[in-house]
Amino acid sequence: MSNYYQPDIETASREEIEKLQSERLVKAVKRVYEKVPIYRERMDEAGVKPEDIKGIEDLYKLPFTSKQDLRDTYPYGMFAVPMEEVARLHASSGTTGKQIVVGYTQNDLDIWGDIVARQLVAAGITKKDKVHVAYGYGLFTGGLGIAEGSRRLGCTSIPVSSGNTARQLTIMQDFLSDAIACTPSYAMYLGESAAKAGIDTSKLPLRAGIFGAEPWTEEMRKEIEKSLNIKAYDIYGLTEIMGPGVAYECSEQRGMHVNEDHFIIEILDPETHKPVPDGEKGEIVFTCLTKEAFPLIRFRTKDIGTVTHEKCACGRTFVRMSKPMGRIDDMLIIRGVNVFPSQIETVLLQMNLSPNYQIIVDRKGVLDTIEVQVEMTEDTFSDTISDISRYERELADRLKSVLGIAAKATFVSAGSIARSEGKAKRVIDRRNLV
Ligand code: ADP
Ligand code: ZN
Repeated sequence: MSNYYQPDIETASREEIEKLQSERLVKAVKRVYEKVPIYRERMDEAGVKPEDIKGIEDLYKLPFTSKQDLRDTYPYGMFAVPMEEVARLHASSGTTGKQIVVGYTQNDLDIWGDIVARQLVAAGITKKDKVHVAYGYGLFTGGLGIAEGSRRLGCTSIPVSSGNTARQLTIMQDFLSDAIACTPSYAMYLGESAAKAGIDTSKLPLRAGIFGAEPWTEEMRKEIEKSLNIKAYDIYGLTEIMGPGVAYECSEQRGMHVNEDHFIIEILDPETHKPVPDGEKGEIVFTCLTKEAFPLIRFRTKDIGTVTHEKCACGRTFVRMSKPMGRIDDMLIIRGVNVFPSQIETVLLQMNLSPNYQIIVDRKGVLDTIEVQVEMTEDTFSDTISDISRYERELADRLKSVLGIAAKATFVSAGSIARSEGKAKRVIDRRNLV
């Protein structure tokens, strides 16, 4: 039995992939130039004609697009088909500001289903399995995106949507879910709630999890795998480009294969806009090759990551991207030092502390302060004050060595930090910097 959904393309040679990308890019650029005014204006300004784009080697000549362009043309200014051809609208979850709206033709939805199905198969899911979808259904792409993939693969989807944790656990037990898809922070919470409810997850058929839509660490993966007794896979996507399934993890779990027949990934130095070598961090930029309704060219995601062309033992030949290390938007600048919430999370989990934490940034006079509040767990602490302050000092020391600046560490009581059913809110910035 093959563990690929579309083996011909998932294991194609680099030459074949690049040839296909070049053909598709030429067509995509011609189309957007004809159909979407903003592309024509930008390309005219830059002195680039569609004929100048002969293949992927010419990609660098094309102007960038950004979230701001989507906001400026809100709601439908960047659509490339008339509304009668649009089968579905979705909107970004608005984590970083005003929402944007995107559209899909029937064909776009089929392709979306295919790329999500590639992930499901890579996670060992077959037609016989039942996939419990606890991502939100609605304008957010998570729920319906995974549903499209399940439908294309032919497995059974259980559209539970997000929320009502007790009900999620009942359904998981009664409907015998084989796999679950939700945000990693919610998966942590489900694991925690299952333990509290006395559910022995090793007795459930659940064996795989498809988790994405927000940053998570390897340590968090271990926690989830342990508490839900599953193998946890990372899936990456963003509304603007498609939704979940832009890149997907295989059983090697060493980076996510980018669906390169539909998207070109570039990793660029955010300042010079030049590509950085494999393994070096930069801003992730995507170009859609086949999207009909809402094709973005050189979209700056503001996500930071790396890419590798190294061969993967799974046999897939698509390049692999790292877990995004955060967004340029998420990056906190504290006393001039760049700090990512993911660095803090790694420290917490390495010390076996609770993954339920919050980062509070404030300004006292001219000095920025950062405080990490983390919940106490029953097994790590006895309740003497001196124990707690010893742990707090140790955590503060570790944070200082990783972040390069001093941070206050505070333990708070278990359960006191709000849980999220979708994306977790980790940072509270009280500095009012606008
Ligand atoms: P919003 O921008 O409103 O959050 P989206 O739901 O489109 O809307 O979010 C996409 C973003 O979510 C990505 O740009 C990325 O920052 C983050 N993301 C998605 N998948 C992952 C993942 N597997 N790991 C880390 N971050 C992810
Ligand atoms: Zn692989």
